Amino acid sequence: MVKKIFTDDDGKLDVLSDLTIGVIGYGNQGRAQALNMRDSGLKIIIGNKKDEFKRIAESDCFDVFSIDEAAKLSDILFLLIPDEIMKEVYEKNIEDNFKENGALVFASGYNIAFNIIKPSKNYDILLIAPRMIGRGVRERYLTKEGFYSFIHVENDSSGKATDILLALCKSIGTLTKGAIDVSFKQEAVLDLFNEQAFGPAFGRVLLTSIYTLIDAGYPEEAVLIEMFMSEEMSYTYKKMAQVGLVKQVEFHSQTSQYGAMSRGIKFRKLPLKETMKEILENIESGNFAEEWKKKTSKAKFEFIKFFATKTRINRLEQEVRKKLKMKVIDDDYQEPTITDPSVLKEIKTELDEFEKYFQDF
Ligand code: NDP
Repeated sequence: MVKKIFTDDDGKLDVLSDLTIGVIGYGNQGRAQALNMRDSGLKIIIGNKKDEFKRIAESDCFDVFSIDEAAKLSDILFLLIPDEIMKEVYEKNIEDNFKENGALVFASGYNIAFNIIKPSKNYDILLIAPRMIGRGVRERYLTKEGFYSFIHVENDSSGKATDILLALCKSIGTLTKGAIDVSFKQEAVLDLFNEQAFGPAFGRVLLTSIYTLIDAGYPEEAVLIEMFMSEEMSYTYKKMAQVGLVKQVEFHSQTSQYGAMSRGIKFRKLPLKETMKEILENIESGNFAEEWKKKTSKAKFEFIKFFATKTRINRLEQEVRKKLKMKVIDDDYQEPTITDPSVLKEIKTELDEFEKYFQDF
């Protein structure tokens, strides 16, 4: 169990008065966190390239600088750009420009946990990782509902890192709900595990349910509506968080409760634990992070995404969505072209396996 859940009384905004906070990146998290901090009375500038995101930041009335310039002008710097390009941006634009004893803030533990970025010991290294998409970070600040975050001080160079961290958390709006101290590594592993174990296992269960019904002759539209398009499942998920995993069953009929609870026992031997442990160990050891750095993994990823768009379930869903006059997002994804034959040779056997695997979908 964690020792404490930090809430609004733990953050004192006056620690941040007179400091300039630079937000690098104005995407999902960047925009939401910058707007929240400004509404909390802090001085915010944005660092971004000259493009669409810059235009949006300017239309939100922020002063926008190049990333180098924003790093020079800031006392605290939020790195809110995609994790996979952060190392390059850090090394090229930030480490020579950002001042000693400044605070670097990460929204994900990934790059520090797996030693991809090795920042100077002369910075405070802070983690504020919202358990919420950017849009929710903004909406829940405005409604004062708040959202959970995982937070941590990895390095305290200024001697005030904890006070700064908690003040920043308060200004973003996360303390209204609660923040929990977990290490960068724990945050990264939890996040990756959810994506790599729970996500695909859940996907497999969902698909098996869909095809069991379709193969038994039930109309495709009805099956997809029943299984996920109605949003009943997402409502159930919300209720799990609000009242509890078991308690939420009371929102369902007696027949539903009896059926679900009495049949659950049939699935108790699903061989999930071993595979999940294997995935967890692969993440914890850093093997996943090493794999994802490779050129071959980027190539493999392009192909896997292509195979996913060609699956039966994807075509079926597009047809059903059209019939139901629902929004159809065009995913006309072209077969990737890999120019380096050695990359293709290295991943050929694996790609054949993935292609076959996706044919079942
Ligand atoms: P986004 O993909 O929304 O980031 C987009 C921003 O990054 C834009 O400003 C974009 O500007 C900039 N960017 C992209 N490529 C580059 C580049 N090569 N050089 C410089 N800037 C670049 O990121 P998120 O907000 O999704 O993620 C930011 C951080 O927040 C990550 O650490 C992520 O793990 C974490 N996080 C994300 C959550 C989410 O819901 N998305 C939830 C919790 C944490 P431009 O295109 O102009 O370069």
